[in-house]
Amino acid sequence: MRRKLRVLFAAFEAVPFMKTGGLGDVGGSLPQALRAAGCECRVIIPKFMTIPEEYKSKMTHVTDFYVSLGWRNVYCGIEKLTHKGVVYYFVDNEYYFNRERAYGYFDDGERVAYFSKAVVECLQYLPDFKCDVLHCNDWHTALAPVFLREFYQGLPLYENVKTVFSVHNLKFQGQMSDYVLGDILGLWGIPAAANQLRFDERSINFMKGALLYSDILSTVSRTYAEEIKTPFFGEHMDGIFRDRQSVLYGIMNGIDTAGWDPAADPMLPFNYSAADMSGKARCKAALQEELGLEVNPNIPLVVMIGRLTEQKGMDLVQRVLGEILDKDIEVAVLGTGDKQYEDMLSYYAWERRGRCAASVRFDEALSHRMYAGADMLLMPSLFEPCGLSQMIAMRYGTLPVVRETGGLKDSVVPYNQYTGEGTGFSFANYNAHEMMFTLLNAAEVFRTAPGTWSKLMENAMSTDFSWDRAAREYLAVYQLTHPEVEPWRGKKDSADEAPEAESAE
Ligand code: ADP
Repeated sequence: MRRKLRVLFAAFEAVPFMKTGGLGDVGGSLPQALRAAGCECRVIIPKFMTIPEEYKSKMTHVTDFYVSLGWRNVYCGIEKLTHKGVVYYFVDNEYYFNRERAYGYFDDGERVAYFSKAVVECLQYLPDFKCDVLHCNDWHTALAPVFLREFYQGLPLYENVKTVFSVHNLKFQGQMSDYVLGDILGLWGIPAAANQLRFDERSINFMKGALLYSDILSTVSRTYAEEIKTPFFGEHMDGIFRDRQSVLYGIMNGIDTAGWDPAADPMLPFNYSAADMSGKARCKAALQEELGLEVNPNIPLVVMIGRLTEQKGMDLVQRVLGEILDKDIEVAVLGTGDKQYEDMLSYYAWERRGRCAASVRFDEALSHRMYAGADMLLMPSLFEPCGLSQMIAMRYGTLPVVRETGGLKDSVVPYNQYTGEGTGFSFANYNAHEMMFTLLNAAEVFRTAPGTWSKLMENAMSTDFSWDRAAREYLAVYQLTHPEVEPWRGKKDSADEAPEAESAE
């Protein structure tokens, strides 16, 4: 049978309805790209109070029912809105979701359990959508695969539903007192479930449940998928990742290539493209001027944009920044985070005026000007599941200097002086001087081999970081769960006309 696969993408965030981090971008971009790739993808998120009124007012009521949660029986309304061609469902319950923020409440465990149960329960009430794949994301939806198998497995409608669970952030796993097991999850009397959710004598772990119950697991880069099988990266789950490595996939996120486009970016003083880079030189001069750095095209300008934390390699920077600044290199940092790093950067910006600039704040517009105006982006992370900044930098022809971990390793091709290939520079060990020498080497190439540098910029700018690539990889993974369905091969723009849901070709 040849038809589109029907995927329900469940998450707590999706742009433009809710965003607190990268997950929101995934929820906003991936479903659209999946549709274009030939898949019927719909999204389900909570109906948060903070969703802008312009969207809320357009939602229509689909259905309502009650969800059992331990001893509770809780109302659930499902509302619907089509946005940019994608159908979004919203789980409506004012008690749980009529709050200022998405997370950070004493009853988050109960709220996410409710959402996960509602997602599974609603599969039988969506009039025109018969789900093949339930794609859950992070700990907020981790219980859905558990509930599906423990409470719904026997029902014919659910038999064919396969589950994919994606880890975007392994730090937050939903670790709760085991009291929750009976009181909220209603799983006390099911020893298999209780055992699989158990973390230690006193606590259970929602994400552990998803990692054991889901048919397929994924995370946000191939290298990170390898790394989390080790104790250092695995956050206590490495044993499960090792056991289940045959169903564990690494798929790099994309970036919004229309929003991050140096040829059309309205936040840049000058636009440019690979065909005509003159605008980039002018952006550099404008940025040097703006940040109080010496305006000189021949001095390499290195930027860092992101959270100032140990994860981002800030202790390496702290160790050698003084030495780097001695070498006729300009360094400009935009970010907020741990106070010790903020203070350290402010100190160097004062002590090395004209060579170093620190903007300790969140500033979206400045970040655009920095991605465009810089020659290099330094990102020496201790670990980096995927990382966006390095991809954005490459799109702007700013060469990344990265540590070879997670998504940094997968997205940056290190410069090879013998073949001339590459899209940036990288080093392997978490060592300040290794980082410094890699950066100095890059600066040397910048100064002495402008032809090579131009070629590297061209390579970086032509790399495909679109969501289309990610969507094709997700689709291939979904297809593994339903080998009986022949992939839909409609042309990209004819996909919308393709028969939906049941029909076969
Ligand atoms: P993280 O681990 O913080 O998610 P990523 O590299 O995946 O790191 O994504 C960080 C995103 O946030 C990038 O798009 C970056 O440009 C943006 N960003 C981080 N800090 C700042 C800031 N201070 N001002 C503007 N943008 C920022």
